[in-house]
Amino acid sequence: MFAEQVQVQVRAAATGERWWRRLCLASFVLAGITALLVWVAVAELLRQGHLGAVLSAGRAELAAPLLVALVVGTGICERIWPAERRPVLARGHVQDACFLALHAIVVIPLMTLLSVGAATLIGGHAHWLQLRATEQWPGWLLVPLTIVAMDGANWLAHYADHRLGPLWRFHALHHSQEELSVLTSFRAHPLMHTAGFLLATIPVVALMPARPIAPVLITIYVCIGTLQHANLRWTFGPVGRVLVSPAYHRLHHAPDIQDANLGVVLTIWDMLAGRARFPSRADSVNRTGLDGRPVPVEQEASAGPALLLVAGQLAEPFRARS
Ligand SMILES: [Zn+2]
Ligand SMILES: [Zn+2]
Repeated sequence: MFAEQVQVQVRAAATGERWWRRLCLASFVLAGITALLVWVAVAELLRQGHLGAVLSAGRAELAAPLLVALVVGTGICERIWPAERRPVLARGHVQDACFLALHAIVVIPLMTLLSVGAATLIGGHAHWLQLRATEQWPGWLLVPLTIVAMDGANWLAHYADHRLGPLWRFHALHHSQEELSVLTSFRAHPLMHTAGFLLATIPVVALMPARPIAPVLITIYVCIGTLQHANLRWTFGPVGRVLVSPAYHRLHHAPDIQDANLGVVLTIWDMLAGRARFPSRADSVNRTGLDGRPVPVEQEASAGPALLLVAGQLAEPFRARS
């Protein structure tokens, strides 16, 4: 890998190629938008004097004991009923554990600030989005409706991740895993979340501008979204027609079926878009990852130490592809 980079640099120097031509400018634009959202959120929370409290609340929601228990419980199930049998310390597991650490330290506060920043920007500049009629609706109707609409927005963001080149550059890291496990839920570039938070904020601002969604509901939503990467053959039976199961999402991680099964928690959006492919227990377990390995992966014989590779995987979207 290192030798390849040196060769590229020597070639570039020999041909007089400008250094910035080796960078992907669209990725820097997305990083700039993310920084803007974070700056808006921090400024707003400092003004209100709530920065610490909101970050703590975000941590309680996104690192809840329920989610930790789900990851541990799923890990045990993966040892008993694996879709693909592999050692506990398989390279894919170790690498995704590094991404879990990154998630806990960097991504959870980032997600919290992105949701505040998006709500501040969209809520502050698009009052026309707020549907005043829903103010009188009972919570038992409005809350599930808002969560379903958020799931639809997440589906749209995931669709955009696959259709738009600059977004795909950040999403590809998630798809590069050849040894799927529950930890793969955390194998995501931190900048992959920006478009999703911007889109998912719209239904919240529209339907529930004045009422927050109970944190436990967000935690349950995140738990269902986390379970889908488990190294299990579970299809969820008839429930799997509605909720995304590990077997359903595994098909999305096949190198040649990525335009199907884009659902995050509900399958309805895939069904409406004609992109749902329901697995059956009789199906063989498909391989996962990306053909040609456009993102450096730990399964390469020449891959370096896990943390060094994480740095390379995070830097990859900023490099221009020839
Ligand atoms: Zn995807
Ligand atoms: Zn996935």
